[in-house]
Amino acid sequence: MPTNAELFARASRSIPGGVNSPVRAFRSVGGTPRFVARAQGPYFWDAEDKRYIDYIGSWGPAILGHAHPEVVRAVQEAAVHGLSYGAPTEAEIEIAEMLIARMPSIEQVRLVSSGTEATMTAIRLARGATGRNKIIKFEGCYHGHADSLLVKAGSGLLTFGNPTSAGVPPEFVAHTIVLDYNDIAGVKTAFAQHGKDIACIIVEPIAGNMNMIKPIAGFLETLRSECTAHGALLIFDEVMTGFRVGPQGVQGLTGIKPDITTLAKVIGGGMPIGAFGASAKIMSNIAPLGGVYQAGTLSGNPVAVAAGITTLKLLAKPGFYEDLSKRTRTLCDGLVERARAHKIPFSADCVGGMFGVYFSDKVPTTLAEVSASNIEMFKVFFHGMLDEGVYFAPSAYEAGFVSSTHDDSVIAATITAADKVFAKLNA
Ligand code: PMP
Repeated sequence: MPTNAELFARASRSIPGGVNSPVRAFRSVGGTPRFVARAQGPYFWDAEDKRYIDYIGSWGPAILGHAHPEVVRAVQEAAVHGLSYGAPTEAEIEIAEMLIARMPSIEQVRLVSSGTEATMTAIRLARGATGRNKIIKFEGCYHGHADSLLVKAGSGLLTFGNPTSAGVPPEFVAHTIVLDYNDIAGVKTAFAQHGKDIACIIVEPIAGNMNMIKPIAGFLETLRSECTAHGALLIFDEVMTGFRVGPQGVQGLTGIKPDITTLAKVIGGGMPIGAFGASAKIMSNIAPLGGVYQAGTLSGNPVAVAAGITTLKLLAKPGFYEDLSKRTRTLCDGLVERARAHKIPFSADCVGGMFGVYFSDKVPTTLAEVSASNIEMFKVFFHGMLDEGVYFAPSAYEAGFVSSTHDDSVIAATITAADKVFAKLNA
């Protein structure tokens, strides 16, 4: 049985950095990435057969836990009938109708294969629909890796201290205005200066790619009112928050309706999928109806759609989100209580099944506050937890995710493990 270290050495010869997505590489926390052999419910097992309680859940999709039997069955049944057709299916209508029924602002939806495709196309759609070029994004928000969005971005770019990607010509981002998250005055100033030229704002309505940061009171409201006043479109990137923070995303929690919504992660139940949706009027700009082009060989893939439909059905069970929120809250409260008992500056916060842990006395509301937290202590905590068999995101700039299979005993085991690690941190 090869060890994680042996697999990492081998992977590093054939795959850049040994991984197919940067944050998996543990570069900012040091040490050896765990190579996953299998997963079930709240757990995965690495190449050395060590079990971990998983708080990444594939970075969001695994809201029902890993390998949920009904989702696996749906995938198996769909696969038997063919893996991809490149022609429409009834199941695509079914998932579209489910998304429309649940997301307050969506009248029509188009499926793609990733969150990146969804946000990239949403921007193109906003530009096409308004005939304007400029876009506003917020520092520390990550919207996938399309060129115009890789400016002062979150997730791996922030983790590795290189928030603007190389390989993007300055001209490609000349129309991207970057503002601070939760800076209401900054948004008003940008619209006062550039209002006529702004096609859209794209925002994570609860940010999850610079650790978790909630919008302050008035922030999302201001985005809505400024967009409306100036004829710009508001894009909620709910790739992470959609069906994660509640049954209708942040738009359901806040009552604020974006013009365009992007989705991915949970809606595919672990299979590659993404989606963008809006009013029928805005969506009429998309090919074949309108001049904004978007297409995909694997869009609406029947196996991914089967996983998505089954996942969405299971999420509709009464009490699902109440339970999930309660467990996540218990986790956060338990961690804070144990940390404080050991006099560690620590805070935690959550919405639905998404949470943030911060080595700072109070929950941050800005990227600067996240950056000012004790990131070195986070790294020691991360490795301590890993040794105890608990897998948090390997970065102080990522959110965490709880699934419906993280039951009371799993949460209690996590808090017990954290207690041991906090004790060592304070030693
Ligand atoms: N938007 C947000 C808010 C995300 O969190 C992510 C991925 N973490 C993306 C877009 C990109 O999605 P994908 O990785 O599926 O391309």
